[in-house]
Amino acid sequence: MSKARPKSKLDIGLSFRKTSCNDLKLWYASGEIPRSPGVTSPGPQFTPLIEIAVKAKHLRANLRNRFRESINGSKLAILSRKIRCLLCHNTFKFSLFLLLLTACFPIFRKKNLLTDVLLPEAKPLSFLFPQNVKLENIPFQPRDPSNVTSIILHSTEKRKAADYIRLSIENKFMIHILVDKFGVVYADPEFLKKTFLASPGLDDVSIHVAYEGTQENVLTNQIQYNSIRNLIAQLTEDISIPKSNEDIISKKGIFTHNQAKRRFGGFVDFSMCGGEKLIQTVLADIHGNFYDEDHWKDRYESGWVLKKENKQKLQESFKPTNGRGITKAVKTAIPSIEKDESGFPIESYRVRYTHRGRINPTCIVLHYTAIPDYFNSLKTLENRNLTATLMVDKDGKAYQLVDELEERAAAATGTNDNCIQIEIVAKDTAELIAQVNQTEKVKSLVIELASKYKIPLTNEDITSYSGIFSHTQAKKKWGGSIFLNAKDFDPGEEYMELILNSIGGKYFTETNWRNRDGLDWAILSRNFQP
Ligand SMILES: [Zn+2]
Repeated sequence: MSKARPKSKLDIGLSFRKTSCNDLKLWYASGEIPRSPGVTSPGPQFTPLIEIAVKAKHLRANLRNRFRESINGSKLAILSRKIRCLLCHNTFKFSLFLLLLTACFPIFRKKNLLTDVLLPEAKPLSFLFPQNVKLENIPFQPRDPSNVTSIILHSTEKRKAADYIRLSIENKFMIHILVDKFGVVYADPEFLKKTFLASPGLDDVSIHVAYEGTQENVLTNQIQYNSIRNLIAQLTEDISIPKSNEDIISKKGIFTHNQAKRRFGGFVDFSMCGGEKLIQTVLADIHGNFYDEDHWKDRYESGWVLKKENKQKLQESFKPTNGRGITKAVKTAIPSIEKDESGFPIESYRVRYTHRGRINPTCIVLHYTAIPDYFNSLKTLENRNLTATLMVDKDGKAYQLVDELEERAAAATGTNDNCIQIEIVAKDTAELIAQVNQTEKVKSLVIELASKYKIPLTNEDITSYSGIFSHTQAKKKWGGSIFLNAKDFDPGEEYMELILNSIGGKYFTETNWRNRDGLDWAILSRNFQP
């Protein structure tokens, strides 16, 4: 009997289930109905079940014996043997029939799009994996194969195929297909059904194809080139992917990873991953259409993480509505800004700009001009149809560029709707730190603005739009700059630390920025990307 002391009906049931069959037989033989301790009357629901089960068993045995006796030596026995023989033969034939049937109708098969239909020659991608890693353990999001509309081309550059795959695994990325330098195609058999992380923004609709080496290697390696070209020709035909790299915004076509990063971000490094020259050659070879960067659809419109500006177009379209000599600024609202004898910002130091609305400031973004001169910096802003709210000259004087502090300044993508933008004149971070009077002025400005607009003195969470941030932090989050470099720091984290810590704020290093490991950053925090 069970050691437990069951109380409810459920407990009694459980205790019965735990007892062995032999126990039940013994109880039956002894005429005793099993009951649990503490249960006074036998459970009536169990009695008939036990009786019926045992009686039925006896009955079946009796019938079997009587049937064997009755047919022993009779015609029936011979017939029975014949039937069994026939069955034996027909089982084989029937199996054959079933096999043919299932082969003819794909519905009976386990669908394997790679080996059966698309890439019969390919070897499993897992052949390139380190010994202790299995394909099943690589994380992916399931997808509907009919959603796949693009191919993204990657290059392993100087890395060998197996190293490239190993590093991808270590950094939680993966690609679907790889063509090695011998032209051998390796593929994940389920590549159409799996979304792998390789190029955020496009992963859910893309087949990631990598090739071993650089595009120059491939263009001088006929075997590998043919293999890549045939693969792309076949995939574009079979999955109806446009043979064109024109429109990455539509996510339809064949693109290099380089192009994908420029539109959607998700950068780790700035390699020309995929190779424009190679894609040009392949597209020409398979009667597709190649477009160079200047002719990618809407390349000069906004929306690209890595902007491209057309100087001529910018100058032609620049029709300033506000600023120096056009509109009158209101009186300066904080003491640290230079003013004339009537209390207005110094007109000749202001910028001409396009009015872009007003904001309720909740944050400040610091920039350095990378140009060591005030008026050249001002001219550069105007040439690019941009503006900051304030600019601090090398001598430590701060000027208001726009009409009011609440005018929306266009200076750092993602933050312009919320933050006051301060440009600081210097050619680099070292010069910034050396300019002591200027640094003191920047501190005063930050203190006065933070007090006026209740802005916390911290750089922890840029997505909160609440705090004091570097332009680089904004670039890493939202991109939108023509100068986008994973290594650059504008105005320099060293400078940010100096400012925040010396005014009683709290400085956070990059690894401690809120959610820095997330995938929704223009520049990801990884060491490698396929
Ligand atoms: Zn890539």
